[in-house]
Amino acid sequence: MTHQQDIIDQTDRRSAHNYNPLPLVLERGEGIWVWDTDGNKYLDCLSAYSAVNQGHCHPKIIDAMTEQAKKITLTSRAFHNDQMGPFLEKLCQMARMDKALPMNTGAEAVETAIKAVRKWGYEVKGVEDNKAEIIVVKDNFHGRTIATVSMSSEPDYRKNFGPFTPGFILIDYNDLDALEQAITPNTVALIMEPVQGEAGIIIPDEGFLTKARKICKQNNVLFVLDEIQTGLGRTGKLFCFQHEENAAPDVLIVGKALSGGVYPVSAILASDEIMAVFTPGIHGSTFGGNPMGAAIGLAALKVIEDEKLAERSHILGDYLMRKLQAIPTNKITDIRGRGLFIGIELNKDLGGARSYCEALMTKGLLCKETHDHVIRLAPPLVIEKEHIDWMVEQIAEVLKD
Ligand SMILES: *Cc1c(COP(=O)(O)O)cnc(C)c1O
Repeated sequence: MTHQQDIIDQTDRRSAHNYNPLPLVLERGEGIWVWDTDGNKYLDCLSAYSAVNQGHCHPKIIDAMTEQAKKITLTSRAFHNDQMGPFLEKLCQMARMDKALPMNTGAEAVETAIKAVRKWGYEVKGVEDNKAEIIVVKDNFHGRTIATVSMSSEPDYRKNFGPFTPGFILIDYNDLDALEQAITPNTVALIMEPVQGEAGIIIPDEGFLTKARKICKQNNVLFVLDEIQTGLGRTGKLFCFQHEENAAPDVLIVGKALSGGVYPVSAILASDEIMAVFTPGIHGSTFGGNPMGAAIGLAALKVIEDEKLAERSHILGDYLMRKLQAIPTNKITDIRGRGLFIGIELNKDLGGARSYCEALMTKGLLCKETHDHVIRLAPPLVIEKEHIDWMVEQIAEVLKD
C-alpha cells in the first residue's frame, strides 16, 4: 500500500481538494474491471458516473481513437473534417432527431441547451428581451459551471459562488401542479433529468414525463431532457424518456458514454427549427466536433448498438434488482432503479454510505456514495450475470445485520 499512499500524498499536495476519492490508485481498466497500482483487481460499479457504459478501454473505441490519432486530431470548426458528419448522422438517427451540436463536457452541452432555448424564446416565441425564464427541478444536477450551479438547489454546489445567473425557476420534482403554476409568458423551457442521478437515483411517478411534456407543449415551452447520465443505454432503454409513451424531448442533452469514457464528447440534439437559432459565429467551441472526438463518438455509439447494451441493461438490471431485494438486512430502507442504474438507500442511523463503500472496496467492488445515504450501482453495461452474482454476494456480506 505504501506505493499507492505515496501517490495519494503527492496528489493531495499538488491538487485542489475538490473531490474526496476512495483511497486507491487505479492504473488500468478493461471491461468491467479496474486494477490499482499494486495489481489488485476491482469490479467498477460506478463506470465513471456512467461514462464507461461500454466498459473500460473497449477495443473498438480504442482502435477508432488510435487510427484517428495518426491522421488528424483537431481542425477547429473553421474547416470541415471528415469525421463529424458520420458521427452526427449516427447520433441523430439513434436519437431520432434532426440535428446535433457537438461540444465536449456535459456542462458545456447544458450551457448550449440554455443558449438554444433562450434564443428560441426571443426569436421564435417572442419573449421580451432579457426576460426568458427556464424552469428547473429541485435536487437537479446539470454540472459545475456558473450557469449550471445557478440551476441547482444544492447549497454545497452554490455556496460563495454567487452572483448567479438569473432566469431559473425551481419547482419540486414530480410536481405537475407546480410546473403549471410556474409557467409564465416568459417561460422558454423546462430542463430536467428523467431520473435524477446525483440526487440518489430519484425516479419520477409513472407518466410524469409524458404529462410534463404535454403541459410544456400546451404552453409553447420547450421540454429539455438532460440525459447525460441516464442516456445511451444506462436505464435499460437507449434513452430514459423511452420508458414512457410520447415523452420525447424538444432538446436532448447527451455526454458521458457518448465517448465510452475515452474522451470528452457531448452534444445537444433538436429539431431543424430549434437548431436554426444557431447561425455562424453565435456559438462555438475550439474542440467541439473535433475529428478525434467524432471518430471516438461514432465507435462508442456503434458499440452500444452492436452489443445491445440497452437491452442488456434492462435484463441484467431487473436481475440485479431482484437479487438485491432478496438480501436479508435491516440496513436497507429502499432500493430503486431502472436498468443497471440502481440506488440502495441505507438507514439514516448508519451514518452514511461512505464507510460501506470503503468496506466494499476492500472486497473488490468500487462504488461511490451519492447524497450521503445512497450507494449507487452502475456497472459497465457489458457486465455478465455471473459478475452480478458475485457483486451481490459482496454487498450482502457488507450489509449483513
Ligand atoms: C455528469 C452530468 C453533467 C455534467 O457533465 P460534465 O461532463 O461533468 O460537465 C450534467 N448533467 C448530468 C445529469 C450529469 O450526470
